[in-house]
Amino acid sequence: MSAHGSVGAGGHAPALRDQHGRSIEYLRISVTDRCNFRCVYCMPEAGLDWLPKADILSYEEIVGVVEQLAPLGLRRLRITGGEPTIRPDLDTLIAKLKAVPGIEDIALSTNGVKLPTMATALKAAGLDRVNLSADSLQAARVAAIARRDLGFRPVEAAEAAIAAGLDPVKLNVVVMRGVNDDEVVDFARLTLTMPLHVRFIELMPVGEMAHLTDEHIVPSEEVLARVATLGALSPADGPARGNGPAKYHRIAGAAGTVGVITPMTHTYCGSCNRVRLTADGRLRTCLYGDHEVNLRDPLRRGEPLEPLFVRALSEKPLEHNLIQMKVGGLRALSQVGG
Ligand code: SAM
Ligand code: SF4
Repeated sequence: MSAHGSVGAGGHAPALRDQHGRSIEYLRISVTDRCNFRCVYCMPEAGLDWLPKADILSYEEIVGVVEQLAPLGLRRLRITGGEPTIRPDLDTLIAKLKAVPGIEDIALSTNGVKLPTMATALKAAGLDRVNLSADSLQAARVAAIARRDLGFRPVEAAEAAIAAGLDPVKLNVVVMRGVNDDEVVDFARLTLTMPLHVRFIELMPVGEMAHLTDEHIVPSEEVLARVATLGALSPADGPARGNGPAKYHRIAGAAGTVGVITPMTHTYCGSCNRVRLTADGRLRTCLYGDHEVNLRDPLRRGEPLEPLFVRALSEKPLEHNLIQMKVGGLRALSQVGG
């Protein structure tokens, strides 16, 4: 394979490419497999078999991985989990990662519970943007879907993130028929006045999905038809930074956008530019399947990671086969840094 691509803008190290020519500049880092929620589609009520503390990468080790990968073209990071904000002193990790030469952009995926108290400190530490997950705007339903009542108020969390200067702020909604699909219009309405990017995600057959069925999946075309009852929709570019697999639309005159992410009815693997680091230091080149390379043990032995990274990219699958599979049994997204 050709591991290196062309020199990037600004004279940076050339971006690594996988064997299908996709340039890989984006690493999602899971800092914990634990969570303060138990979302019905993600984790069992009783939790999972948590990783032993000794297996989890320390902040110094995470920074060590990023320091070795940045010269290979890594530019953008996303901190995720589990729930990343429950790991103590997350702002210190973000500050250290932002100081690594070559790292231009750091994002966070969070359930948003702690955003009202943490957003300002995270921004000050160097966080650029945030995705928060919220599946309902109704307090009782929020607690029922998360199986925890932590007083989470999605609009408050989004307002705190916007006020802290995080940009863009995206709000991810997993749409489930008969559970929260009656709130699609309410979520979309937020974008009329808030500079918020609301993204509706098709439910995926992973983790806790066994008790949910195909009938709970709401295709994106149906979601957009409901959104269009608020006003004419036109295709939008979406946020300038951090454009991932979502397709964006704007309701006429709206401050924000509405996006759909469609893992179940469409694939977007052809433009996939990301790899993942699990909390216990394994590199995953695809969210699905079993392609993993252990970086933690070589790192702890002081060995160079570049050859392992290059090899892992040479094995990055061309695409996942979720659409064909449509079955349960895959690992929970919380365990692989979804
Ligand atoms: N705890 C953080 C959060 O909830 O945003 C970060 C980790 S969570 C695993 C990342 C994203 O995966 C969330 O937006 C969540 O809604 C989504 N997710 C988890 N399980 C899913 C499933 N079965 N189908 C679709 N999305 C899922
Ligand atoms: Fe926790 Fe996020 Fe999974 Fe919900 S989706 S249980 S918040 S990791």
